[in-house]
Amino acid sequence: MRDDDRDRISRAAELQVKQQSAAERGREYVGYEVGLIDQVALSSAVRRKLAGKSKPREEVLQAYEEANADRRSRIEQKFGHGTHVLWQFWAPNPDEMFRWRVELDCGCIHDDLSRSEDRPPHEARWLDPVNRVWLPAGQVWCVCDTTRSAPKPYRRIAVWEERREETFPADPVELPDYLSSEETHVWAKIRHDEPHSTAFWRVTLSCGHVDDHAVTAIDWKPEDGPWRMAADSPRLREMEQWWLSEERDSEERDPELWEHYLRMIAEGWPIPQTEKDCFVCKHARRVVAYEPIGPLVPKPKLPKPPRKPSRESLERRLAQVQAEAEKLQEQLAADDESAR
Ligand SMILES: [Zn+2]
Ligand SMILES: [Zn+2]
Repeated sequence: MRDDDRDRISRAAELQVKQQSAAERGREYVGYEVGLIDQVALSSAVRRKLAGKSKPREEVLQAYEEANADRRSRIEQKFGHGTHVLWQFWAPNPDEMFRWRVELDCGCIHDDLSRSEDRPPHEARWLDPVNRVWLPAGQVWCVCDTTRSAPKPYRRIAVWEERREETFPADPVELPDYLSSEETHVWAKIRHDEPHSTAFWRVTLSCGHVDDHAVTAIDWKPEDGPWRMAADSPRLREMEQWWLSEERDSEERDPELWEHYLRMIAEGWPIPQTEKDCFVCKHARRVVAYEPIGPLVPKPKLPKPPRKPSRESLERRLAQVQAEAEKLQEQLAADDESAR
């Protein structure tokens, strides 16, 4: 099979999985590509002894077995009885799992399990537990002080994946708490006096991560592209002036948000926006080093096969047997002689 054929087939299979999974969540799969996903080069993680110790094997095995029992019962609930053929993909036996310790670029060291000793952890794919999708190869989810306080970068929206609609009731006439009595005119302008619906999208960003909360008007389609203000629009210039002249302590200013606003103004304030802040980028960390620990279930020791005798010992034995045979022949000959 040619490589591009294989590529096409795996993309078709991936698409089918995406469509099915969107349908299960009551969503419509769209899959409209508007940009590129940055190819994450496989990191050059080093194999070495990591600081500290791995967890006791029994503890890891017990945790795996408990999680696996739960996973298997969910597979059965979803697909019915007789579905253990699926276990090999989603809930393999513990004796198929290999243990690693991995060091991430946030400095944390994790105990992890993968299907194979042949594929080192910086080439394997691990789960984004929030969106339940695979992270780009070699990234592992970490929640620690470093990742919690990391900035949430803005990324280009590369694929509009799937959509769902939500309907909200009409807004109350009273001013909401976040507006003052001088801002009655603002409320009059933005208030929805009828129930209204909004579309929420799952998008894939240029970093390869998924975000589930991009918002658009209900009737917007990705092929429409974003609506933009004219470059000479006075309103746009006003927004730029306001944003640039904003007197705020630059220490407090969120640089990610600041640069995002400036890019959006330069693009004519597209609606929907062409970027989204990526929560996953905070927590998806690159594997920088790893240490193989061993199979989760050690292989049973096989009895040793008998050792192959050396050439010298065979020659020695042959000489002994030949000497013995000669002796027997002599005895037989002597016997014959005396019987005559
Ligand atoms: Zn960490
Ligand atoms: Zn990201």
